[in-house]
Order: sequence, then C-alpha cells, then structure tokens
Amino acid sequence: MNGTDDLEASEAIVRQTAILAAGLSIDDPETIPGLVYPLPADAELATLVQDYDTQRSTGRKVRCSACSQHQFHYRGFVVELADGARALIGINCGEAHFGEGEWKGMHARLRQKQDMAYFEARIAPTLRQIEICYPTLVAWREAVGRLEVRPLLQRVLPDFHRMIVAACRENEGHLHRYRYRRVVEQAANGTERLRKEVETIPYGTVPAPLAYLDGSLRKKLSDASEDLRVAKNLLLGDPDAISLKAAFKRLRNGLKEIEDAAEICRGHRRNLAGQWWHGACRMFTDEAGEQITLNGRTLLLKSYSTTKVRLPDEEPPKLWNAALAAWPR
Ligand SMILES: [Zn+2]
Repeated sequence: MNGTDDLEASEAIVRQTAILAAGLSIDDPETIPGLVYPLPADAELATLVQDYDTQRSTGRKVRCSACSQHQFHYRGFVVELADGARALIGINCGEAHFGEGEWKGMHARLRQKQDMAYFEARIAPTLRQIEICYPTLVAWREAVGRLEVRPLLQRVLPDFHRMIVAACRENEGHLHRYRYRRVVEQAANGTERLRKEVETIPYGTVPAPLAYLDGSLRKKLSDASEDLRVAKNLLLGDPDAISLKAAFKRLRNGLKEIEDAAEICRGHRRNLAGQWWHGACRMFTDEAGEQITLNGRTLLLKSYSTTKVRLPDEEPPKLWNAALAAWPR
C-alpha cells in the first residue's frame, strides 16, 4: 500500500466510526427490536435510516424482508415505514421494489446525513485546530528573530562569524586550530628525514552545528502557514473525496515542516545557552590576534574601538511546543 491508500483506508475508518456513532449505520441490524418481516405488499417507505455491511461486522448474512425469495445478504438498509416500523432491505432490492427514482432519492438523503456526520467528526475539529494553530505559528515565526544569533554576528562580528561557520561546515562544529611543525626523524638506515606533524588544539564544540548553518527556519514556518491556509480553504469549500485527501496531505506536509523547524529551534536554543562561546572567543583571540571576550551575555571585541554584541536570551520552547500540539492531524 502506498501513502494515499493508507490515507484512504484510515479516512474510511474515521468515516465509518463517525457514522456509527451518529446512528446512521449499524453493525448488527438483526438486534433492532420489532423488525417487520416479511414486508407487506402495500408497505410504504418513509426513509432509509441506517446502512449496514455485516461482512465487516457480524460476518452473518441477513434476510431481506422485501423480495419474494427473501434473499440473504451482507449489505443493505434499515428502512423506516410510514407507520414508524422498521425493516431490513438488501442493497439490490430497494430499487426493484420501490422504484429507482424514489429509492435513489432516499439513498442520497442518507448519504448526505452520513457526510454531515463525517464532517462534524473530522472536518469541524480540524478547522478548529487550524484556527488555534495559525496564530501560534505566526507568533513563532515572529519570535524566530530572537533565537537566531547568526545574522547579528554576521553583521557586527563578521570574522568571528566566519570562524564559527567554518567549524560548523567543515568540522561538525568542533572548534579546532591546527598547528603544523616539522620534526626530524631517524630512519632505520641511520639517515635523518623531516616529517610533518599536526597538532590539534581544541577550543570546544558548537552544540548544534546544523542549526547554526540552517537558513530555512522562516521558510519552513511560512510553508507550514501556507499549508494551514490551503487546507482550511479546501475543507471549507464543500469538500469531495479528492479535495479532502488534498487537504489532509497538506496538513501532513505542514507537520513535517514544523517538526523540522522545531528541531532547528531546539538547536538554536542549545547554541545560545552553551559555554562554548568562551572557547570560541579564545580561539578567535589566538587566531586573529584581536581579543574577543564574553562578559555575561555580551561579546566584546577590543580593536581600535570596542564592539559589543549582546547574545539573545534563549526563548522558552513554549511556542513550538504549542504549535506542535495544536497542529491538526
Ligand atoms: Zn430482497
């Protein structure tokens, strides 16, 4: 089964559950008290009240009350007669006995009630979740600027920023300097030769290097907002099976986007909180010969003049937790 079949199957279950709960379908129609059998020749049908498919419930065929041979069948309808009594009619018998047009009309009205029950059970809660989730997503997107330290560093301390980017991109976040030297080595035959040696000087590690590099946070949140908007329009526009499927596919895509975005934000938080900034300052000072120190949350570069950058305080994770919790599924 591919994803679409999975969705179709799971949606069919959601629909059937909703219809059963609304009393518009029944698992075991034979438990209905006072069923009329057989149907009198002059019986007048009022409505179809429920459908059933005993192949997927009791596994037992039931007797049709309408046709002369009283055929056994799995699928059929509970019908209400003009006097309020109920009877069971097989799926193929209604038309033959009561005329195609009238039967079709009654069947359509039952379908419509079932669609509404499904709508109430599935679509209405989804629309409510969209209403709750959307502003949370917008607030989260606005708060992103307070978590991302990179644009600030890039602007104010570009060399320092470049050093961190290189560590994240080329060395999985490890802040290393390499010192090369040549040592004289005695070969077995007594001759001397020069060998190059590399010494690694560690200064710590950026906790979440991928988050530091990732520039897709705002885009992911915008895409997720767009998914909510499109899904909402599809669900509001008197959806058929195809547009329903499209709507829930959108919502699944969006969920993936905000899960990715939450992962990036968790990385930003770890990067903002860590002690590794002190190591990065030391490394820069050793490498560039210009002194950067971290004073509380403020980076100080002492050059011809003093440059100050205040690291953003870490945001509590409530926004993305709220968005993940409210996301319609
Ligand atoms: Zn029949």
